[in-house]
This record gives sequence, C-alpha cells and structure tokens, in this order.
Amino acid sequence: MADVSGIFAARVWLMTSPNSIPNSAPSAADSLLRIDDTRTAFAHRSTPDLHRAKWMFGLIGSPQLVRLGAGAVRLALRLGIPMRWALQPVFDYFCGGEDIQGSLGTAQDLSAYGVQTILDYSAEGQTGDGALDAARDQIMSTIVTAEGDDRFAFSVFKVSALSDNDLLEKVGAGAHLQPEEAQAWQRVEQRVSELCAAAAEKQVPVMIDAEETWLQGAIDTLAESMMQRHNHGACRVFTTAQLYRHDRLAYIHRLEELARSEGWIAGVKLVRGAYMEKERDQAAAQGRPSPIQPDKAATDRDFDAALDFALDHLDHLHIVCGSHNEKSTLKLAEGMRTRGLQPDDHRIAFAQLLGMSDNLSFNLTASGFRAAKYVPYGPLKEAIPYLIRRAEENTSVGGQTSRELELIRQEIKRRKAAQ
Ligand SMILES: Cc1cc2nc3c(=O)[nH]c(=O)nc-3n(C[C@H](O)[C@H](O)[C@H](O)COP(=O)(O)OP(=O)(O)OC[C@H]3O[C@@H](n4cnc5c(N)ncnc54)[C@H](O)[C@@H]3O)c2cc1C
Repeated sequence: MADVSGIFAARVWLMTSPNSIPNSAPSAADSLLRIDDTRTAFAHRSTPDLHRAKWMFGLIGSPQLVRLGAGAVRLALRLGIPMRWALQPVFDYFCGGEDIQGSLGTAQDLSAYGVQTILDYSAEGQTGDGALDAARDQIMSTIVTAEGDDRFAFSVFKVSALSDNDLLEKVGAGAHLQPEEAQAWQRVEQRVSELCAAAAEKQVPVMIDAEETWLQGAIDTLAESMMQRHNHGACRVFTTAQLYRHDRLAYIHRLEELARSEGWIAGVKLVRGAYMEKERDQAAAQGRPSPIQPDKAATDRDFDAALDFALDHLDHLHIVCGSHNEKSTLKLAEGMRTRGLQPDDHRIAFAQLLGMSDNLSFNLTASGFRAAKYVPYGPLKEAIPYLIRRAEENTSVGGQTSRELELIRQEIKRRKAAQ
C-alpha cells in the first residue's frame, strides 16, 4: 500500500489562508485538505470567466431577483420570446453544452486537473413512450461515451426521465395497475434494466438519482434489484439516499445488511436532498407527517452518521458523497485518513455540480481524492428548469451563493495582487 501518511503529512503544515472565511474554520481535517486554496480551485477558469461568474453569482444571490427572473423566463418561454442571450452565460457556467459532443471540452478541461465528469442529460418531465425511449437512448450514449475513457467517472439517470410520474407514483404506492399501465411499467423496467446492464458491461458505474418521496418507493425497488443483479465483485449501480429524510439512515443500514447477507455491494450516493419545500408542502396539504427531518441540524447529523457508517462497512457499502458541504467533505476525508485508507480508495468518491464548489472538487483531486462533477447537458431550452432550480436552490439553501461569490472574489483579488 502506498504511503498515505505522506500525502496527508505534506499538507499538515498548510494552514487555512489569512483571508479564509468563517465556514471553513480550522479543524483537524483542514490540515490535510486545503479547501480554501482558490488558486487550485479556479486554475481552470480564466480571469474574464471569473469576472463573469462574479457578476452572475451576484445576481442570483438575491432571492427577489431570482424569483422575478425565474418568473420572467417562464413567461417568456410560454410567449415564445427568445431568451438565449440572457440565459447563455448561466448555461455556459453550469452546463457542459447542448449535446455530448459539445460537452467534451468541459470534460477535457476538468480532467486536466484530475476532476472527472458525470454526463447528466438534463431534459426533464418528458412523457410518452417516444420521448422516454429517446431519453433512454441519450443516457445510453453517455455510458457508451464514458466507456474506457478516464475523463469520466460515472454515468447517471433519473428514473422519472424514463417513466411517466403518475405511473411511478402508482407503482410506489402499490396501487392496482390497469393492463396497459402494467405494460407501460414493464417498459420502464426494461429501460432501467438496459441502462444498468450496459453500465455493468462497459464498467461505467451508474448512479440512479433520488427524487420526491412519492416517486422514490418505485425507484428504490428498481435500484435495489439492479444492485442485486450487477454489484457482485464490483459496484456498478448506485442508488441515492437523501438524508433530509428521517428514515434514510435506517434504510442505508438495512441495505448494507441485505447486501452483506446476499454477498453483493450496495452502492449509495449520499445527498441531503433537493425537494425539501415541495415535500413539506405536499405532506401538509395531505395532512400527513412530513418525511423531512425537523431541522438542518438533524439532516447534517444523519448525513455525517451515514459517512461514518459507510467508512466502517466498506466491504459491502461503497459511497459517493454528493455534497457541497465543506464540513461533511472534510469529515469524510479525515475519516478516511484516520482509518488508514488511501485518498483514492476505489470505494469512496466525492461529487459536486459543475459550476459549484470548485474549491472542494479541485482541492480534493489536488490532494489525491476521487472527485467528479455532474456536467448537465442538453438543448438550452430544455435545461432551463435545471438552471432555474440551480438559481433557486442557491438562494434557498442560504449561503451557498455567497460562499461561491466570496471564493471568486478572493481569487480575483489574489490574481490582481500576483500581477
Ligand atoms: C453530485 C450531486 C448529486 C446530487 N444528486 C441528488 C439526487 O439524486 N437527489 C436529490 O434529491 N438531490 C441531489 N443533490 C442535491 C442535494 O440533495 C442538495 O440539495 C444539495 O447538494 C445541497 O446540500 P449539500 O449537502 O450540498 O449542502 P448544505 O448546503 O449543507 O445543505 C443544504 C441541504 O440541507 C437540507 N436542509 C436545509 N435546511 C433544512 C431544514 N430546515 N431541515 C432539514 N433539512 C434541511 C436540504 O437538503 C438542503 O438542500 C445532489 C447534489 C450533488 C452535489
């Protein structure tokens, strides 16, 4: 085994920089992984790029502007008013391109710094077999593109891109299906099955995203059966657990137990969860208890507990830490170090979204960890819901945008001073 301590020790004396920001207060883990090194974080961005990003994050940092902007874009789309000029800079920052070919440049740029790409087809809300089959074909192309190419780490899909949501909801609820619904469900299973089989055959691990609780029951069943089928000896299929749900830590425990008893590997992408407000509203509207944790601290506690649990059960549980949270990222890195694991242990990966938390992705790979970016792609028009969500999420999670902005400002300042 390579001398891991060397990799970490080299960083022991690197302290957080004097202009570091409060959220990254020094800790044991800071001494091994610099997450406030903006030079490394933004080495792949030109200075004009950074100025554009500063301007953009300044705009989306304001909840009022985002609300107004999102409304205006939706209205313009309905009225057929061209919005490309306004959306292009945002698209360029958060998306790889309009198709796979157009995204290869981004994959190349990232890989120059050891950051791998997860091509993420961004079209959403499709219905009808034609569109669902087309989505399956698109996702298949991402798997084929990634085969044997180490610029790519994983592939990914959302089951809702392959099924009507109503059907997913019915299946999840165990409702009786009409014969044509049962046939439609078989076609959904077939699409999922084809993608997972290709991922296994081409050795491009695939992550199945987590969605709203009313869709997730059916997604869990599909994901579990795919893991049972393909994760023998290697982990090719990953499900996703949202730790903002109060039942998901126990679910991860059960999944690991099942995998261990049956001799396969559970692959879990750990995330906090993206649909909190929607979940709470829906539960309130239906008069049922919310599936979401009572507060952020409870979500953070379960997320970090899931990291610890995984670190102690890596024989049958492999993880992708899908998070922009600096404390959790440092906690996982530190947990690996204290257990004597190599930073590039194949059972653990970190992932962030393109255009966000570059300070994590690029500093992680600079320290030898495995980090990858979701690189969404698709026609600009179809990526709009994704872009609006990015902007809304950035304002609603409180702080992420100002964090991005602060890091960009620091790097611009650093470059100016260095000139
Ligand atoms: C690579 C990657 C893949 C992802 N895949 C998925 C996916 O498949 N499915 C999915 O749903 N999301 C996914 N996400 C989004 C993710 O769930 C989070 O919304 C986002 O990453 C913010 O959480 P965080 O851990 O980065 O950081 P933080 O900023 O520390 O956490 C914010 C999150 O904490 C939770 N939270 C905030 N306030 C409260 C509160 N009052 N009570 C309870 N919880 C609260 C919410 O989940 C919120 O999004 C993914 C994110 C990444 C980076």
